Amino acid sequence: MHELKTPVSTINGYLQLVQAHLSKRDDKKLLGYTDNIAEQVHRLTSLINGLLNSSKIRAVGFDYQEKIFDINEVVTATIKDVQKTTNTHKISQEGIVVRYVKGDRERISQVLINLLINAIRYSPNTNKVIVRIAVKDNKVIISVEDFGIGISKINQKKIFERFFRLKNPDDETFYGVGLGLDISSQIVHHHKGKIWVESTEGKGSSFNFSIPVLNPRKVIHNQSIQGLL
Ligand code: ADP
Repeated sequence: MHELKTPVSTINGYLQLVQAHLSKRDDKKLLGYTDNIAEQVHRLTSLINGLLNSSKIRAVGFDYQEKIFDINEVVTATIKDVQKTTNTHKISQEGIVVRYVKGDRERISQVLINLLINAIRYSPNTNKVIVRIAVKDNKVIISVEDFGIGISKINQKKIFERFFRLKNPDDETFYGVGLGLDISSQIVHHHKGKIWVESTEGKGSSFNFSIPVLNPRKVIHNQSIQGLL
């Protein structure tokens, strides 16, 4: 798999040489062409990186750093981080829970990041995304709702498959790799949780995941996080 990277970096190297020569000659037309090549090489590099990351996960499993963490804090902090990357959408949180989860904080945050990025990306003509957090039957449920393009019933079944992407011929900005949901569902399943979607085409989607929370009484007796309570 890593052999994929070598020819691409070689192409990149030569491309930079060609660009340096063309700038000396001030050849604007050819420089314009090389800019297009550079953009496509860049796109290819991110596709390969996505592919390598995902196959690495499948081959050796994620490297999970388990600890007990406050799920509400992760949700709030992740929203704050993703909010900084967009000036088109306002992300709001509805609900607050006081619950602890045993697992990998960064990976769970990654799931929420993936869902939020999708929610923003696939709702280009709206300006809000809502994150809901609630507890039911010893599980925390986190939902990300957008008011965007939505997903048809038939595609909802395929959406978590690896490399599944909906073709959107009239919008080039929607390009991605089709790995975000595959990786997210692997992380959620590792935490013994579930991930699912509810959506209406043309109205929007709600991507939800649930993970088990620790029994609050057990948490109080756990020495390692007494400082947190
Ligand atoms: P990517 O977004 O990189 O293509 P994902 O695995 O994150 O990969 O998503 C797979 C496909 O699911 C996307 O190509 C898109 O068609 C669809 N999708 C994901 N999230 C949403 C959303 N919030 N609204 C509409 N479609 C979505």
